[in-house]
Amino acid sequence: MSLKEIKVPDIGDFDEVPIIELFVKVGDTIALEDAICTLESDKATMDVPADAAGVVKEVLVAVGDKVAEGTVLVKVEAAAGAATDSPPLQGEGQGGDGVKAAGNNPPSPSVPLPEGEGSVAPAPAGAWTGEVTLECDMLVLGAGPGGYSAAFRAADLGLKTVIVERYATLGGVCLNVGCIPSKALLHVAQVMDEAEHMDSLGIAFAKPAVDIDKLRAHKSAVVGKLTGGLAGMAKGRKVDVVRGYGHFLDPNHVEVEETTGTAQEKTGAKKVVKFKQCIIAAGSAAVHLPFIPRDERIVDSTGALELRQVPGKMLVIGGGIIGLEMATVYSSLGAKVDVVEMLDGLMQGPDRDAVKVWEKQNTHRFDKIMLNTKTTAVEAKDDGLYVTFEGDKAPDGPQKYDMILQSAGRSPNGKKIGAENAGVIVTDRGFIPVDAQMRTNVPHIFAIGDIVGQPMLAHKAVHEAHVAAEVAAGEKAAFDATVIPGVAYTHPEVAWVGYTEAQAKAEGKQVDTAKFPWAASGRAIANGAEYGFTKLIFDAETHRVIGGSIVGPNAGDMIGEVCLAIEMGADAVDIGKTIHPHPTLGETVGMAAEVAHGSCTDVPPARKK
Ligand code: FAD
Repeated sequence: MSLKEIKVPDIGDFDEVPIIELFVKVGDTIALEDAICTLESDKATMDVPADAAGVVKEVLVAVGDKVAEGTVLVKVEAAAGAATDSPPLQGEGQGGDGVKAAGNNPPSPSVPLPEGEGSVAPAPAGAWTGEVTLECDMLVLGAGPGGYSAAFRAADLGLKTVIVERYATLGGVCLNVGCIPSKALLHVAQVMDEAEHMDSLGIAFAKPAVDIDKLRAHKSAVVGKLTGGLAGMAKGRKVDVVRGYGHFLDPNHVEVEETTGTAQEKTGAKKVVKFKQCIIAAGSAAVHLPFIPRDERIVDSTGALELRQVPGKMLVIGGGIIGLEMATVYSSLGAKVDVVEMLDGLMQGPDRDAVKVWEKQNTHRFDKIMLNTKTTAVEAKDDGLYVTFEGDKAPDGPQKYDMILQSAGRSPNGKKIGAENAGVIVTDRGFIPVDAQMRTNVPHIFAIGDIVGQPMLAHKAVHEAHVAAEVAAGEKAAFDATVIPGVAYTHPEVAWVGYTEAQAKAEGKQVDTAKFPWAASGRAIANGAEYGFTKLIFDAETHRVIGGSIVGPNAGDMIGEVCLAIEMGADAVDIGKTIHPHPTLGETVGMAAEVAHGSCTDVPPARKK
């Protein structure tokens, strides 16, 4: 009887990885997927599963040995009648060029781990033998912008698709408690701010009276319209939606604990869905600081969007985009707002010159902006929330607030879905590493959206969703976007993409920059937005645009042109010689390109060098 060698599969760019544990010895009988040994690189710990079943005849390695892809670990004599390879899954053969079809076997895709992160070692994959409620080609776990987009694309490409979602509606954080409700409220806040500004232009409105119940109803109606639309689109595509908490039982089964109501109570009913391929799109959750007590006056972004009341005095913990957007809403509605931020600046991401413009336009909103300052304690008393700070701008003694928004970041849900049962690697922080085709280390399981890494943005999730669904359906696809734009939908908006000047400096990259001040834009002056600017950043060698930032109203709507320019490899002439409509804020992108080119006639002549 011939001996079958079990080798180290593709483990990425590692070639001297020590064995830290060995699970088999000569004479052991092993089954498919049994762990042979554990390897530990400086980035991850991983088990090597058996890709053959039988009796171990030779063990060629020992604990401490360093191995690489292809190193023979053991030789196995297949038991009479035993298959030496995994049984093919129904999904096999669907892969197109360069696409490995679904199956349990290595080679696993090599998935990069974020720098400095270890990973939770995946347990050897088990095999569910119990009852199955539903079978599908593609199971999508989570129905946020990543999940529903992946499901709809997969269905459009002919895969029988099931979505598992714990909420009553599709759309995830973005539609239900994120992008959309926040923008519905920001729009109202903007109109209120503009009405106030009209006073100085000779048009006086009465002080607005806020009917918070009506405003909340408006926000809910916006959300309902969109989530209802998604339900209809799922139906139209024959995508089955199974409601409940999903977790993996093994690499081809997810158990769903049915939920009901808005609080996602479990009913006790369970279903098991068998899938050939899966896309994990389980998103992220707001970080709750451990020292902050549970109190209904202390909310995260979801609680803030419920708009229960407009507090007299509000503290926003965290000066990132979500915190500042909510601060904008509440301050426009009448709250006095303080912001505390541990870092030395608000709104990390864009260049400081853009943030400075935003800060200048927003001084009226904030009582205190406490940078380089930490919140160290919160005491909830009947008459208010007493907060103690430490750091550069910490006020003396505890400060009293009526409401606190915790906006200290979001953490991925990777550790909450039983990923280890499917053999999927999850990092210490809960992210799931993926390759450019959005595959996890288990070839037929993909992951997308917030759960795979920063930036946690809906448009990144959707882009990744399409890639994963297309690869799963056998199409050639990969995530190869050069840039992902970021936007703060504050007043004014701040939008940026690609290289910032600060990043170029940090990397020692030679760049040229061109700035068009909105004080030279007729439309910006007419709109009272002459404080804004549009800046383009060019590679000094190739002259191609590699970054840009815009600050001013509608900056988020305009940054798309800069994204396209970067993706297309455009230079200043390409953008500047494109005719932009006049008078628009959008033409400031063309004018910034003309500034770079030296052909702009709307700014004073460039100084001769
Ligand atoms: P999510 O939207 O988080 O969806 C994951 C889904 O999976 C959820 O519906 C969840 O219920 C479900 N789920 C998780 N675990 C399970 C399980 N075990 N079983 C069943 N279901 C499960 N991004 C932007 O691009 N623009 C913005 O303007 C913007 N504004 C934001 C404002 C706020 C207040 C917040 C909080 C976020 C905002 N974001 C914005 C970020 C954006 O919402 C996320 O990046 C996006 O929703 C991520 O999509 P996703 O599909 O990865 O995950």
